[in-house]
Amino acid sequence: MLLWLRQNVIKTAFRASPVSAALFVLLSVVSAVIPTVLTALATANFVDTAAVILGGTRPRGDITAPLVFLLLTMGAQYTVGAVVSLLRARIGMRLQNTLRPAVVTKHAALDFKHIENAESWELISRVSANPVASVLEGFGAYVMFAQLLVGVVSVLILIVSQVWWAAFVILAFSVPLFWLSVKAGKKNYQAGRDAEKFNRRTWYLDWLLVGRENIEERALFGYGEDVARRWEEQYEAGRILQLRVRARYFFITKGGSLIIALISLLVMLILIQPVVGGVLSAGMFMGIVGAVFGMVNQIGWNLSYSLENISKAGEFVKDLRTFAGLSEAPGASDLPDPEPMEFSAITFRSVRFKYPGTDVYVLDGVSFTLERGKHYAFVGKNGAGKTTVTKLLTGLYPEYEGEILIDGRELRSIQPGALKAFFSVIYQDYAKYAIPLRDNIALGDASGADTDARIQGAVAQAGLEGTVSELKDGLATPLGKILEGGQDISGGQWQRVAIARSLLSRAPVKILDEPTASLDPVSESRIYEEFEKLMRGKTTVFISHRLGSTKLADEILVFSEGVVAERGPHRELMERSGLYTEMFESQRGWYQ
Ligand code: ADP
Repeated sequence: MLLWLRQNVIKTAFRASPVSAALFVLLSVVSAVIPTVLTALATANFVDTAAVILGGTRPRGDITAPLVFLLLTMGAQYTVGAVVSLLRARIGMRLQNTLRPAVVTKHAALDFKHIENAESWELISRVSANPVASVLEGFGAYVMFAQLLVGVVSVLILIVSQVWWAAFVILAFSVPLFWLSVKAGKKNYQAGRDAEKFNRRTWYLDWLLVGRENIEERALFGYGEDVARRWEEQYEAGRILQLRVRARYFFITKGGSLIIALISLLVMLILIQPVVGGVLSAGMFMGIVGAVFGMVNQIGWNLSYSLENISKAGEFVKDLRTFAGLSEAPGASDLPDPEPMEFSAITFRSVRFKYPGTDVYVLDGVSFTLERGKHYAFVGKNGAGKTTVTKLLTGLYPEYEGEILIDGRELRSIQPGALKAFFSVIYQDYAKYAIPLRDNIALGDASGADTDARIQGAVAQAGLEGTVSELKDGLATPLGKILEGGQDISGGQWQRVAIARSLLSRAPVKILDEPTASLDPVSESRIYEEFEKLMRGKTTVFISHRLGSTKLADEILVFSEGVVAERGPHRELMERSGLYTEMFESQRGWYQ
């Protein structure tokens, strides 16, 4: 699989579809002589024969063969063009089945830190956006370059065979143009990359402005205009950047082709003399004029295009290799074990952690023990490190100091599949899958064992029975509006779907990371009370910065400045009159 990400575009295209790629190259290169030399010869033949016939020394019928030859040359050009496009499409299809899966597989296996890091995320987005098109375009560019080379060389040979020195003059002026094109191509790609940053931001703002999901808030808060203004600023910045590079590029390359055109004109003027002198036939003169102008045109447009795309392909391959080299989380694509492990306690022992590439210890000596069957609440201000603890627990960041033990076993030595089966997490931004309700819940248990009865159970427990009866096709109804027949459900209902998913999961430890943060404090504490009841006897960790919801927990851990500052049941913490009491008092108003 990885091999697909490590080779250049030519090798990739040939690996994907060897026969089509070979035919593509062959036909493209051979056909390069059609619009130049072949057409020149056919024109010369036709014009010269016609001239002789008009002079009365040859019968009229003699024009048939040159005419047929001329028409065939023209026809061949279009036919070959169509076949070449067909081959290209075929290579593209094969790449969809080979390269694309390789990119997706690597993407899924990536270490979590690359996903959270802005710079590597940009590289990942660049590579995964459309790898097939990038390879096809790069491969096409190399072939186009070869085609141009063959075309130019054949025209030069034709001219050399007639008036040798003219060919050398043209050649001498083409070399600097060549060099300029390579430089411009590189600059353009760089500008594209810079502009991408802006584009990503504008896409996001764009989505805020027109997306379905935010329609209520947009209307309510009326932020449309503000976002539109920001969108315009972002867009402008990206556009000006690209425009500047484009303008320079355009002047360099088109200015270059202007020079070539002038030189060709000069050559034509010079060729008049040999025609008058009888050294060059009128037909051959016309043929060469056509070929040279055709060539100049091609050089002006296609040379810069192909060189630009060749250097783009080079950059893309570099990106692709860096992407292939990004570290993977061992077992990232492993399925959770069918049977979760047993345990009696999870222990953090002096855990210190800073995010890769940063200097601040987000956790700075965290120690605690979670016992089986108890309900815990992690509280603390936003940014106190509560979510970070869950990221460490679920194995997303193995680079912590200290120890995390599950029954004395260091977390890092536990197989990823076992860890995945051990925790079920409902995140703040839990996913809303636009698939049938049943499948939305079934995702909670990848083992898929006896799920029908268990799904019914989870539906009942999560209080979703009313929702199911409201939906047109019950559990089979797709949620959201993406699939045909899909139905929207309310935010509270989505929350219950996420809870049902967690209930279905066989994981012995359930973590809720502020999935209720979008609710008002009172509703949040109501959901939490329900969750408490549902999960009785199970080990749960409920994370919130709002203390009203967490009163019922067996034990509350207060996170502050990278450590667990206080811990104990609600009443005990209140008696202590410490940080917890202070926070609780300051939030009291939320619940009145
Ligand atoms: P909480 O869940 O308590 O609100 P978090 O655990 O999400 O807090 O964050 C703790 C600190 O770590 C914050 O200062 C946050 O900015 C920082 N942080 C979170 N994720 C990352 C990341 N991927 N890279 C760097 N810093 C991060």
